[in-house]
Amino acid sequence: MRSLVRVSSLLIICGLLLSGCSHDARNESADLLLTGGKVYTFNWDDPAADGAPAKNAPYSSAVWKPDAEAIAVRGSRIIFVGSSRDAEKYRGPQTRVIDLQGATVVPGLVDSHTHVAGLGEKQSRVDLTDVQTEEEAVARVAAFAAKVPKGEWIVGRGWDEGAWANRYPTMKLLSERVPDHPVLLVSLHSFAVWGNKLAFERAKITRDTEVPAGGNIVKDQKSEPAGVLLNRATALLTSAVPAPTDEQLKAYALAGLNAMARDGYVAIHEAGADSRLMRAFESLAAEGKLPVRVYAMLSARDAELCRAWLKKGVRLDETLAVRSVKAYYDGALGSRGARLFADYSDKPGHRGVSGDQYGFDRQLVTEMMKGGFQAAIHAIGDAGNRETLEFIESVIAQKPEVKNNRNRIEHAQVVHPDDFKRFAQSEVIASMEPPHCAEDKAWAEDRLGPERVKGAYAWRALRRNGARLIFNSDLIGSDHNIFYGLHAAITRRDKQLQPPDGWYPEQRMTPEESVRAYTTWAAYAAFWEKETGVIAPGRWADITVMDIDPLSVGATDPGKLLKGNIRMTMVGGKIAYSIKQSF
Ligand SMILES: [Zn+2]
Repeated sequence: MRSLVRVSSLLIICGLLLSGCSHDARNESADLLLTGGKVYTFNWDDPAADGAPAKNAPYSSAVWKPDAEAIAVRGSRIIFVGSSRDAEKYRGPQTRVIDLQGATVVPGLVDSHTHVAGLGEKQSRVDLTDVQTEEEAVARVAAFAAKVPKGEWIVGRGWDEGAWANRYPTMKLLSERVPDHPVLLVSLHSFAVWGNKLAFERAKITRDTEVPAGGNIVKDQKSEPAGVLLNRATALLTSAVPAPTDEQLKAYALAGLNAMARDGYVAIHEAGADSRLMRAFESLAAEGKLPVRVYAMLSARDAELCRAWLKKGVRLDETLAVRSVKAYYDGALGSRGARLFADYSDKPGHRGVSGDQYGFDRQLVTEMMKGGFQAAIHAIGDAGNRETLEFIESVIAQKPEVKNNRNRIEHAQVVHPDDFKRFAQSEVIASMEPPHCAEDKAWAEDRLGPERVKGAYAWRALRRNGARLIFNSDLIGSDHNIFYGLHAAITRRDKQLQPPDGWYPEQRMTPEESVRAYTTWAAYAAFWEKETGVIAPGRWADITVMDIDPLSVGATDPGKLLKGNIRMTMVGGKIAYSIKQSF
């Protein structure tokens, strides 16, 4: 296997150099040589729908073997992949050589659904991601408030609207302990917000405030707002917080992208950029400051931005690509906003909302799709997913080329058994989050009951039905740590390794499928599959180095993955992050 790879690599290199094999490779020395690694190129065929590795995969007797040791890079591209010995040919006087010391190398990781400015912004916010109780959350906000001038807004994020849905917090304790600052506490998945009295006053939310369609203002026994707003009503409070300045937003975006580089990612797909965030990305791109590639989906909620892009057309740039539009079709499952065919199992008479009622701009998204933009549509409930598939199918019926836009359903969280095959039929990519499965399992079955839950986070059912699948974190709602994501995908367990055999384990992915969904398959979803996604000569030098072998460890003892660390991230031949100077 290894010699085969070497021969084919050399042939490709000779072709690339247009100078024939008689040309001495030393005259074409590399800028950078990585040697002594366990390199998985993923330059073999896709696994079968049941996860079985392809015949040409470096896999036999249930054991994975790295298919290369060394990578040579010139400029932004890979020029050689093979053995460390053969790589010596590319060593020149100026070549920087890095000994990988046995670390594992995979194609560059992609987080294909992020809200990256939020990651940078998080650093200036109260972090509530692991709070268990209302009291604990309030104590954290009070401690933070001591350092903030009175009257200024305090924003926090991370309380779990799914876990707390049966007993939402109120403004009472929060207002008592933090009386002098308006406080906005956004939930983990942004489908609920919690505020104190001063915040509700600043936002002018009273008992008489009209409830927006698809939203809910939780009321107390006297019909006064109790302190929590749900789904589309969240904007009543969030819109009262002064927006960050353009400079702040740009700094947040950059901080978020730098964090992603540190965490092993070479690219992100930003799921819904509005005009201001697009300005930040474009400004960073123009200054050459983007540390990782950005595939930006335009926010359909910013119709003006979308119409402007519709006029100028797609941007196919290697560092900032714009050819996608992100829209919301329904709400979330935790806060019971997702649209279901039948009542929520834990809330009779309630089925969530979708489509026009949820603010889905059918006309705008249709125009964008016909204009060559990929549609990336958030759909969670079984009805939400079917209606979204029907919508995409209807646009394809009007203009068949739309099928080539690699349209996506973001989350595809609960799918009716009849609809799995429609993803493949309409070439719709299922864009899903292994962390959501690990986190939502605590309450998902309460919402759905024992039957419908079988179509939830149903990765294997989608693959068996021929759907393309990509994995992501939907950060900052979930931890984007790749080892957490891979572990959740391979085991359907949480960070505490529960349940031991996995939650609905028949939907698990193999280690190879899990890595591919974060690399090769994600590259396809961004139309970059010819440039990146596998490690091969001619491709962008986008690679991730880690201290654990995700294929072997994922197969033998996946719990160990949670201890993995990123050692280096390389984007287009540039080292975007390295654990130490010499490495
Ligand atoms: Zn999202």
